Amino acid sequence: MSSFERMWADLEPVGRDSGSGGYRRYAWTGTDGVLREWFRGEASRRGLEVVPDRAGNLWAWHGDPDADGPGLVLGSHLDSVPDGGAFDGPLGIVSAFAALDRVDRSALSRPVGIACFADEEGARFGIACAGSRLITGALDPDRARSLTDEDGVSLAEAMSAAGHDPAHLGRDEEALARVGTFVELHVEQGRGLVDAGAAVGVADSIWPHGRWRLDLRGRADHAGTTRLADRDDPMLNLAAAVLAARSSAERHGTVATVGKLRVLPNGVNAIPSEVTAWLDARGADADEVRSVVAEVGKAAGTAPVEESWTPSTAFYVALRDRLAETLDAPVLATGAGHDAGILSSAGIETGMLFVRNPTGVSHSPAEHAEPDDCLAGVDALTRVIEALA
Ligand SMILES: [Zn+2]
Repeated sequence: MSSFERMWADLEPVGRDSGSGGYRRYAWTGTDGVLREWFRGEASRRGLEVVPDRAGNLWAWHGDPDADGPGLVLGSHLDSVPDGGAFDGPLGIVSAFAALDRVDRSALSRPVGIACFADEEGARFGIACAGSRLITGALDPDRARSLTDEDGVSLAEAMSAAGHDPAHLGRDEEALARVGTFVELHVEQGRGLVDAGAAVGVADSIWPHGRWRLDLRGRADHAGTTRLADRDDPMLNLAAAVLAARSSAERHGTVATVGKLRVLPNGVNAIPSEVTAWLDARGADADEVRSVVAEVGKAAGTAPVEESWTPSTAFYVALRDRLAETLDAPVLATGAGHDAGILSSAGIETGMLFVRNPTGVSHSPAEHAEPDDCLAGVDALTRVIEALA
């Protein structure tokens, strides 16, 4: 069994829901703790020193970046969306360890690190890439600490319970200074590589994207005895908002999604008093995305509350071209956000590799990559280490 296969088999059962078959690996939970322990175990098995940063991201180092200068860092994240697939995140970390196993470490000219970013998906506290946003200063530490999950547990409480002190959240100059170059390998979340006929591709840019909350308020009442004319039903505003998101996105050439709702009191026979909905909107052009959000707000009858916004992120052109040339791989843009995008925006030389996804499906148990394509990804990362370290 190759080291890739062994690591993959180790991770397979962790956080998997027996009903849906999808993964529920949320930040700072017991499941997350198991994944972080697995990461530490893989690092120590290779003699790598694990250094947590102020936000609780884990960095496993070959060599000493404090003494020998900034290193080449690979890696990704281990958390998932609700009922996510096996590849989004873990593929980048497992492939990084497997690639490091293949190179002659004594021949490396600079430190090589493998990063495990905390809370990339934002499934529990609502902010995607929270770990990388915190260390780069893109997420305010007070705001982060006070974010709450569905049960009212704050991020600060969840971190403390998991053994990480939230008092030190904030921009982490020391951690950032250790990163000379960051290359994140990720399963493609689209069919660009299928169309290109290639197993591995290089990222060009990440679309601007954001999340907004719609607070729709009405009046709870009886579903049988309240005349239609007398109702104040926020679910109708939601329906208008969802339809507007679709039609507006079509008109503006973007995508827009309402994928999460909270309904109070959430009873079949009760007119809702409150509907809270979350809108995710992305596109190649930031102004078009903003127009969609405004139109959705208009249809909903409320101003969308912006929870996060990430402008268009271009990866480093010279690095992108070098990766594409070294790997003889096509270059493609993506609508998905990544920690690599956050680091790139913070001024770190950053690039991304994608591994072919035969259906393009992601954030679903059906997400997939063929074993041969995963190995092509490990090959690619191996060549990246040899070329850049
Ligand atoms: Zn991911």
